[in-house]
Amino acid sequence: MASSASFALTIKIGHYPNLRISQYAAKMLYLQQQIFSLIMSHIPLRSLFLRHVAQTSSAPMGLEVARAAGIYLYTPGGQRYVDLVSGVSVSNVGHSHPRVVAAVQRQAAQYMHLMVYGEYIQSPQVLLAQKLCTLLPPSLSSVYFVSSGSEANEGAMKLAKRYTRRSEMVCFRNAYHGSTQGALSVAGSEAFRQTFLPLLPGIRTLDFNCEEQLPQITERTACVIVEPIQGEAGVVTPQRSFLQKLRKRCSDVGALLIFDEVQTGMGRTATMFAFERYGAVPDILTLGKAFGGGMPLGAFVASGELMACLANPALGHITTFGGHPVSCAAGLAAVEVMEEEKLLPEVERKKQRWAAAMMAHPAVKEVRGEGLLLAVELGDAQRAQHFFRKAWQHGLAIDCFLFCSTAFRIAPPLNITDEQIDEVCNLLYQCLKK
Ligand code: PMP
Repeated sequence: MASSASFALTIKIGHYPNLRISQYAAKMLYLQQQIFSLIMSHIPLRSLFLRHVAQTSSAPMGLEVARAAGIYLYTPGGQRYVDLVSGVSVSNVGHSHPRVVAAVQRQAAQYMHLMVYGEYIQSPQVLLAQKLCTLLPPSLSSVYFVSSGSEANEGAMKLAKRYTRRSEMVCFRNAYHGSTQGALSVAGSEAFRQTFLPLLPGIRTLDFNCEEQLPQITERTACVIVEPIQGEAGVVTPQRSFLQKLRKRCSDVGALLIFDEVQTGMGRTATMFAFERYGAVPDILTLGKAFGGGMPLGAFVASGELMACLANPALGHITTFGGHPVSCAAGLAAVEVMEEEKLLPEVERKKQRWAAAMMAHPAVKEVRGEGLLLAVELGDAQRAQHFFRKAWQHGLAIDCFLFCSTAFRIAPPLNITDEQIDEVCNLLYQCLKK
């Protein structure tokens, strides 16, 4: 519509002599713009979204959000949805937390991007790195900032190759580490990998929680990358002994152990990092999602000795936007909110409340997970799909998992209150009944 209107106007302008054309053209151009914006304002945003924003599936949820606050998303018409996804474990302190918003505004007014990562001293980066290291064991003392979870895993794998001078990498079935080619190479799904071959060579995939397969990690292995709790597999928790034996095997053969805590980090599983639960410390920890407090940020963290490899050759690993000062300011504010509002000690209790309410319904087979990273297992993909639609109709923004179609995800902001949990469980219960 828009293009045919502008075509007609262009033809008309072309009939006037030169001088008049320029005066008239200015007027017509103005008119043209007015008509164009009038037409555009009548094309629903949804159509423009489908036409101009590249899609990741043939059936996007397509919820138009006008604003978000706490655990709620609001449409332009004022309809309210409870966010049970948190942008996939990002909004751990809730949407638009005033303290995070203030930190973003303050930093944006001071300076935004200045220089490719690592050259200038930028206080938001330094302060966040320092804070993070106080939350981690002493061996994890050097933070390399990036912009996303995939990028964090890319950096971690490069670091492991560089340090060990080996190339083989080990990953686990149903693992998800990101969409870039290195991260995809260690995805635990053949369906995901096959479409983009060739990927990195020398990848070995083991079964999660299978101790018998650990001898397949050898002196040729540069690194083992693992989510301590597998998120997209449908929240699969590890046996404590599995992670400990994995740690020992890596140390025995000189392979580096990478824990991908992109989804589980920053309090999601009731401890600041999931690995704290299992008595196994990685050589490299990767972070993303909630780490930026709602802004794009990722990091891989290792010892100073390990990290020094990346500076040889100089600039062997660089990133323009990694550790963006506004993202770092938001990330630091989010950690401070978690501490000041004492969110983490409450998460385990909230989990119990939620799990008990869900398990009371006969359609629920199992509630898996730790903290507020839960999978409610319905045991049947079709039933899960049906339930999924019902939940959206009841104002519940829910999601499923990449590699588990029989369960739905519960990952609300950590500061959800008991009353809100009860209210949501009530709604979930009604949907399950239907
Ligand atoms: N690792 C894990 C465990 C994840 O869940 C994700 C994202 N779902 C990633 C890595 C990739 O993070 P990003 O999308 O920020 O690249």
